[in-house]
Amino acid sequence: MIKQFPCTKCGACCSSIEGIDFLEPYNQDGVCVNLIEGECSIYTDRPLLCRIDESYEAIFSAYMSKEEFYALNAKACNELQERLGVDESYRVLL
Ligand code: SF4
Ligand code: SF4
Repeated sequence: MIKQFPCTKCGACCSSIEGIDFLEPYNQDGVCVNLIEGECSIYTDRPLLCRIDESYEAIFSAYMSKEEFYALNAKACNELQERLGVDESYRVLL
């Protein structure tokens, strides 16, 4: 089992935050205001739910295995990437 979620840093999740409650303070026309030139400008202080592995340990480990959690996240990443037309080279492969 891989130790860290293999985020490809495509930026799709940070560019599509409309309707996500915990990111609402950062929402500017659906894009997080902290996304600067493709990178999170508050990376070390970003919200817990922006941290896939830490949020698993803190919250989701009570409900599912890490394999299930990674699979759900990868599916969500790849579907979002497809919807936003992100290049296939950014797909998350487990
Ligand atoms: S959509 Fe997935 S792969 Fe892309 S930056 Fe977000 S977590 Fe990483
Ligand atoms: S706080 Fe950072 S990691 Fe979270 S959505 Fe905004 S840019 Fe992305």
